[in-house]
Amino acid sequence: MTVVRPDVAGSDPVRDKTTTAVHADHAVPDGTAPHPEHEGNSGLIQLHESIAGLLASRGQWRQAYQHLRSALDLLYADQGQPPHVPEQLRREVDRLRREHAEAREQSIRDSLTASYNRRYLDQRLVILLTEQTRHPTGLGVALVDLDWFKQVNDTFGHLVGDRVLQRVVELLQDGLPEGAFCARYGGEEFVLVLPGIDATTAVAVCEAARARVERHPWDQLAPGLQVTVSIGLAYHPPGKRPHAGPEQTLIQADGLLYAAKQSGRNAVAYREGNQVRLAGVAAGRRAIARRVVGY
Ligand code: GH3
Ligand code: MG
Ligand code: MG
Repeated sequence: MTVVRPDVAGSDPVRDKTTTAVHADHAVPDGTAPHPEHEGNSGLIQLHESIAGLLASRGQWRQAYQHLRSALDLLYADQGQPPHVPEQLRREVDRLRREHAEAREQSIRDSLTASYNRRYLDQRLVILLTEQTRHPTGLGVALVDLDWFKQVNDTFGHLVGDRVLQRVVELLQDGLPEGAFCARYGGEEFVLVLPGIDATTAVAVCEAARARVERHPWDQLAPGLQVTVSIGLAYHPPGKRPHAGPEQTLIQADGLLYAAKQSGRNAVAYREGNQVRLAGVAAGRRAIARRVVGY
């Protein structure tokens, strides 16, 4: 790809109308610049493409795209039909697209566990709750917290702790229904987002995730290691517009997580009417915390 001279690249040559730079590249042998009508847009197109390459190498994808777009528009204007795209340019655009997709993927993933990160979670929750307001189809939001995780670090070391977080994410994601996802909320806390789901299935999905973590052969990672999670599941039912935004929904899930912890951990807590209940085998436990905030 042609490289733009620093003096040209520093400013925006096209917008600044420094057309002399364009014409200088295409000057005829006697030194006089050709008339623009005879020259067509080729100089300007080259300039746009060079700037696009320069901007892309700096990671300024949006501006790079705008310059490539301008180059294409000029080509169309010149030829009156879709231009033949040289192979090198096609490859360059493919590379830019790939890099853009990778950068986007990295910006929404947690680097340790590869689950979605908090930024993605916040964005998706806003969208899902807005959709839920228009077409309520049922939405589960579960806060998952590893039990006694500080002890895992203290006993087995931080490296094992990190491996545990990675494995827990794999186990949480394993049985998720279509459209559901797992995001790292922070530290050893994760959120399962379950769109388009009924209440019974949402509880069953969370209980299955809890059981998968409990039954995993953790001994293979470090002898004596045992890991469990507690889960608080907030639920917006179908046919009812949610009154809570993302923050309020997570506060509800946190209140239920607290109930699960108080009941003895390794449990899923959810609401049924005014009652806080525990899923699965934990349902038989007596002690359920009264303090459930957010309702
Ligand atoms: P509880 O059952 O009440 O949740 O107890 P806990 O020990 O899990 O909770 P606490 O909040 O006391 O400790 C959480 C620990 O999680 C402390 C922190 O060092 C650890 N932790 C958070 N993020 C990471 C991480 O990325 N890697 C590792 N190895 N540990 C982490
Ligand atoms: Mg915690
Ligand atoms: Mg914990």
